[in-house]
Order: sequence, then C-alpha cells, then structure tokens
Amino acid sequence: MNTLLLENMTWSEIMDALADGYDTVVIFAASIEQHGPGLPEVTDTALGYFEAEDLAGRLGHALAAPVIRPGLSAHHMGFPGSITLRPEIFKGIVEDYITAYIRHGFKKIVLCSSHGGNFKTLEEIAREQAEANPEICIVTGVSLDELDESLAEMDRIEGLEPGTCGGHACDWETSIMALIDENYVRRDKLQRGYVGPLTGELLDKFFNEGVGSVSPIGVMGDPTGADKERGRRYFEYFQNLQTECIKNKIKEWKDR
Ligand SMILES: [Zn+2]
Repeated sequence: MNTLLLENMTWSEIMDALADGYDTVVIFAASIEQHGPGLPEVTDTALGYFEAEDLAGRLGHALAAPVIRPGLSAHHMGFPGSITLRPEIFKGIVEDYITAYIRHGFKKIVLCSSHGGNFKTLEEIAREQAEANPEICIVTGVSLDELDESLAEMDRIEGLEPGTCGGHACDWETSIMALIDENYVRRDKLQRGYVGPLTGELLDKFFNEGVGSVSPIGVMGDPTGADKERGRRYFEYFQNLQTECIKNKIKEWKDR
C-alpha cells in the first residue's frame, strides 16, 4: 500500500488490510483556527495528517482516519476565520468515528490531538468509550502536559530562548509546517509573540479571555527563526515520544 490514510483507500483495499491484520486505527482531532500572521488556519489539520500517517507507520498494522476538524477553539475566536464546535458536537463526531471503525472490525483505537484545546475532552471520550467497549483497546496519545514538557525540552536541546517553542504558531509548529510544505509559511509576516511561561493566572486568562489577551497577534512563542531542518528534528523527537507512549498504553491494556 502506498498510503496509510483511510480516506485515500478504496473499501476493498481497507477490507484486505483488515484481513492482513491492520487492526489499529489512529484518529486525530485538529482545529481550524488562527495561527498568527505567518501560518494558515489549516495548520493543526496539516500537522494532524502528517503526524497521523507517520504514527500509523511507526505503530505497525495501523491506518489513519480522516483528521477531525474543526475542534474546540473557543479561545481563538477573537481572530477572523477561527471555528469552534460546541463540545457536545465535537464529542458526538469523535464517538461516531469510534462506532464506525469498531463496526468495520478495528480492535485498537488511538485518539490523538494536534491541537491543545481538544486534549481534555478526548481523554474524557476515551475513558467513556473504553468502559462502553471493554473488548476494544481505546487509548490516547501523550497528554498536554507531556507535550508542553517536550516543547520546553526542544528549546533546551536546540539552545533556544525558553518559550521560543511556546506551543502556538511558535518555532516548533512553524518549522514543522516548513518541513511539510514551505508554501504554508508566510516568511515576511512571521512575528515574535508572547515568549515566557504560561502558567497560573496567565493560563486562566489565555483560556477565559482568549489568546489575544496574552498575545495580540495570536502567537505563543517566536517563529521568526523557523527552520525546516530543525522541524525535522522536532518531528522525529515528538513522534518517538508519541509512539512509545501509545505502545506502552496498548501493552498495559493487553496485560491488564
Ligand atoms: Zn497549532
């Protein structure tokens, strides 16, 4: 097969893959939301496809579902173009994906997000669905805290000012987008956003009053030095982390 993306396969190819033991489906939830003046609204969705297909390959005998978007982006609504789903609608879509793939014969379901705002709800859905479908292995990928830690670690490894990989339209996202396709990146429009810790009161402000209350241009981090080769290193590091995390959770489920 030259693709692991379910939406690019025919039903008979999917049937053959299932018969060959492809029993894992990787479901990514993303967003359609502002990513500062230098990246398009499709950013998390493009990252979702890039991460999902690569992750399916690393897990083995896995296929990737169409990336779900929009997502939960209420805190980005202060900027033109962002869309946010009502939480119950988002939840319903994810649940219907799970129902469909179980019906088609998948035995392991991996739920991941390429957008921070979806993590908490996805973890809730995974817990509920795992309880409702005890014969199916349903796991989530790395937590939002683990993702944040990995961004801070990337700043250290690359010798960047702490907060350069701030998590939104930052050096991390912009460098990986350049790796996917340089045409996504508006080089002449990249601007430094909020660079610093996002904790306590500031974090509450970020979610309650919106991203614009912390960074008027909607950027958490500094994308101005974004580099495709660094994007390749970021991606490799993160995909390894994600793969290990999921393999461990699947093993725990098997050994339970
Ligand atoms: Zn993003």
